[in-house]
Amino acid sequence: MGKKTDSYQFKTETKKLLDIVIHSLYSHREIFLRELISNSADAINRLKFLALTETEIIDSTENFQIEIIPNKQEKSLIIRDNGIGMTKQELIENLGTIARSGTKKYLEVLAKKDIEESPELIGQFGVGFYSAFMVSDKIEVISRSYSDENTYKWSSSIEDYSFQITPSENISRGTEVKLYLNDQSLEYLEEFNIRSLVKKYSDYIEYPIQLICDKKPEKINSQRAIWLANKDEVTEQEYKDFYQSLSYDFNDPLTKLHYRAEGTHEFSVLVFIPSHRPLPLMMEDLERSKIDLYVRRVLIVNQAKEILPRYLRFVTGVVDSSDLPLNISRELLQQNLKVVQIRKNLVRKILDELLRIKRDDPENYRKFFDEYGPIIKEGLLSDQEYREQILNLLTFQSTRTESGKTTDLEEYVSNMPQDQKEIYFIISENRNLAENSPALEVLKSKKYEVLFLQPGIDEIIMNENLKYKDYSFRSATDESLEISKSEDFNQQEKEIKGLLEFIQDQLKDDLKEVRLSNRLIDSPVCFVQQKGSFSPELQRVLQFTNQNHPPSSRIMEINAKHPLIENIEQKYNQNRSDPELIKYIHLLLDLALIQDGERPKNPVDFANQVANLMNSK
Ligand code: ADP
Repeated sequence: MGKKTDSYQFKTETKKLLDIVIHSLYSHREIFLRELISNSADAINRLKFLALTETEIIDSTENFQIEIIPNKQEKSLIIRDNGIGMTKQELIENLGTIARSGTKKYLEVLAKKDIEESPELIGQFGVGFYSAFMVSDKIEVISRSYSDENTYKWSSSIEDYSFQITPSENISRGTEVKLYLNDQSLEYLEEFNIRSLVKKYSDYIEYPIQLICDKKPEKINSQRAIWLANKDEVTEQEYKDFYQSLSYDFNDPLTKLHYRAEGTHEFSVLVFIPSHRPLPLMMEDLERSKIDLYVRRVLIVNQAKEILPRYLRFVTGVVDSSDLPLNISRELLQQNLKVVQIRKNLVRKILDELLRIKRDDPENYRKFFDEYGPIIKEGLLSDQEYREQILNLLTFQSTRTESGKTTDLEEYVSNMPQDQKEIYFIISENRNLAENSPALEVLKSKKYEVLFLQPGIDEIIMNENLKYKDYSFRSATDESLEISKSEDFNQQEKEIKGLLEFIQDQLKDDLKEVRLSNRLIDSPVCFVQQKGSFSPELQRVLQFTNQNHPPSSRIMEINAKHPLIENIEQKYNQNRSDPELIKYIHLLLDLALIQDGERPKNPVDFANQVANLMNSK
């Protein structure tokens, strides 16, 4: 076999990623070492996993380890393992394309600036290997698969977005990644720096990491699985470092849970709840769970989505079970009773802990809930079992709270006047609109508190017929709200029927119905909603996502006691074809729209009419 060189182009999305990697400046370049070490540990894990069934592929005396070899003369750094190795084909596939399918999508939405500010995202994308280009001019990967007797070398200096594959002199099974460090990254040749990086990010890796300098090899990680240690044996700094090594979040977490469950099924848990979302756009898209499942210190499933429900997908950490089978497959996890037990236990603990923080540290909880609240709320839709606990985690602004301050359902209920039977809310884009909405007038007059909710997830939740301690929730704009129907309401309705029909006829393109109001006191009109219909904002979203929802079915209510309506009624009784009457009726619709934070139907007309009115003496 001749020494043939094959040249390949990186796939388009890989190029794009490389561009970002190479041309951006990084404050956290150091994560490359963690990435390569974790790939190596992974490679050893995978080999050991195969060996469970194909026992002949490893020798029982074999020592698995990862070596780091800096070379100052050559300005090179080698990370070497005796793991599973890669065939020629695997080198091409694994190191020429981006592994995870979601990556491309993220790259499209992520501006370069976002990555510059948060380079740790590179790791979250699962494109770890490429992070090595942050510190290298050129990379060589020499690898021999357990299933192949040939060794191949992959190399790339990235300038022309290509990589080469050549047959290489044989090495023993495994992979050697050699980085030719760029001039800005020579610090990573220093023994001291390597040691502290390994300590910080890779200390718990279950295989020895040997540093090979001039002296004899020295193991520089403790291999200590801190999640198995007793709480009092772990320092705050160790927890922080571990959290960073898992999450790439350089902020301190909001809190952590570290405990050991004993009994029929034993397992250890160390999980962290973050304090901040990494980027505003990430969490919606980032569907992955962040819990790694170990069985007696062996990583079994990376990011196991079975361990936590989706609405807790921001929780990061490790679960280590003593009695799950080592070779359990991803597919079987979901049905495994022990996994179900772990999940139950963990969900309960996390919800309890959040509740504790809400009570003991309201300031930090508020910041946390601003960012993660929408995700937690998803749990009200999916998890009947924990509804009560989840409802207790919610916080709201309301007619009783000052701007920026919040209340919760427990407090709400304890403040309810005796005659109040339901929990009231209003959905609005902002506090100002909510506070001044005419729909609240009657509720305010009764001293009923109204919670301020936002379009989107809040609305969807409120359509679920939730109950809190036997109280149901009702929108202040619900058409069937009946709080204080005056005795002469039916009589009034009869009297004004003709006018209502007339207005309805004039506005039939925009409204489903016009009716007499019993909730307005100071304002002439407002919109109300049918149960099950969504706000215009949410309708836009739902239409956008192609979900089928009926078009707006707006109902406008009219306050017959308001002078403006009395004026219209007078005009109507005098002369129904008075052009002024028609104009006023359209103005009513515009008023209702504006109160809801929308635009008048025809803003120019509206402005002209108001100007005219102001001019008339
Ligand atoms: P990830 O590790 O998140 O899948 P990477 O870009 O770091 O993404 O690596 C891509 C793939 O290359 C890995 O999934 C693995 O199959 C392969 N790989 C990387 N490093 C090694 C190694 N040291 N030994 C064997 N395979 C490796």
